[in-house]
Amino acid sequence: MVHPSGRGEAVLAADRAHVWHPYSPAGAGVLVPPVVSAQAVRLRLADGRELIDGMSSWWAAIHGYRHPILDAAAVAQLGKMSHVMFGGLTHEPAVSLASLLVRITPEPLTQVFLCDSGSVSVEVALKMAIQYQAGIGHPERSRMLTIRRGYHGDTTGAMSVTDPVTGMHHLFRHLLPQHVFVPEPECGFGDPLTASDLAPMRDALESRQDVAAVILEPVVQGAGGMRFYSPHYLRAVRDLCDEHGVLLICDEIATGFGRTGRLFASEWAEISPDIMCLGKAMTGGYLTMAATLCTGAVARAISAGEGGAFMHGPTFMGNPLAAAIATASIELLLAQDWQAQVARLERELRLGLARARGLPGVTDVRVLGGIGVIEFTDPLDLGIATAQLVAAGVWLRPFGRLLYTMPPYSMDDIDLGRVTSAMVGVARRRGG
Ligand SMILES: *Cc1c(COP(=O)(O)O)cnc(C)c1O
Repeated sequence: MVHPSGRGEAVLAADRAHVWHPYSPAGAGVLVPPVVSAQAVRLRLADGRELIDGMSSWWAAIHGYRHPILDAAAVAQLGKMSHVMFGGLTHEPAVSLASLLVRITPEPLTQVFLCDSGSVSVEVALKMAIQYQAGIGHPERSRMLTIRRGYHGDTTGAMSVTDPVTGMHHLFRHLLPQHVFVPEPECGFGDPLTASDLAPMRDALESRQDVAAVILEPVVQGAGGMRFYSPHYLRAVRDLCDEHGVLLICDEIATGFGRTGRLFASEWAEISPDIMCLGKAMTGGYLTMAATLCTGAVARAISAGEGGAFMHGPTFMGNPLAAAIATASIELLLAQDWQAQVARLERELRLGLARARGLPGVTDVRVLGGIGVIEFTDPLDLGIATAQLVAAGVWLRPFGRLLYTMPPYSMDDIDLGRVTSAMVGVARRRGG
């Protein structure tokens, strides 16, 4: 099968010599197949092989690759301008995107800050919360409160509210601000909320006067463990925040744009956050862009406070190319029956992954919307699992004890079947 491809070999050699990959040592020995192009749900490798992409490039490529409508939006915008500074200038692509985001998110969210990446949108959210509390006369409210097992990004502020263990806080203890962590809720997605689930959050809010905001991933904790928790918990946290004058930040970077079966996961709890972070799928996986939305009340307090302005402004803020593609991607999503698509993914993932249930070494199989997870008792060997998946024609990126998929919404049942079979194959091989 392997085509002789000098180019692919040269890319790999230079990659090994000079290029960092995410969460990898330098010169990583594990398989990093060079991709030369991608189309619909397939990645084409330098050696001519094709892999079905079960990752949507880290939750982002919800429509698959090279969608004609998104390609056309990119080309049309390139013909006008790919970038112009946002300080003191404005443009239609950013304004249209911001208006669209306000229209599709809960009503109290009216103000949009466009930024470069998910992590930056979390930084922006944290700064908004601090400036809000200072603006209403509570400068002592300067800490964040969050739950364990969360993931909010890799920049310093975002990392400081990410799980201390998986985020390796001890390595960065001289750099990270100290925030408050309470245990994550035990209740699963369909479970009722128990008093013991809520007690740590309630106790923290009742005993501390220094909390500016609670930050959470609504309903699905993604990169911190692919855990699904009850919307009742989120609803109760919303009420507690209101009771204690604390803002609620929902990090919808992974869950936004339909992945869990609702357009935004906070809809499961019928709540609206004070600040919402969006990213990943926002541009359909074409370019990096994220957004932080806030309520009018938050925006007014910040604007009336010290400095009279929100203190952040990335060089590439509001990038017109990314904004034009994001608007096209969101309109494309809303123009289809995306609920039916995600419901179909959920059905097929349940069906396909059920075969892994009860296999030796498998502790849990769970599915919510377009997210399918097999959890093992012990960590997977990344090299062995990846090689087995690639041999089956499937691209997935296992991490720790988890093998999971979040396919493009457009993936058909046949390809989905190949993805779930490959996952079950890894579980079978592992169980011996
Ligand atoms: C991916 C992710 C981020 C960080 O986004 P980047 O674009 O990688 O910086 C933050 N929060 C959540 C919930 C995410 O899934």
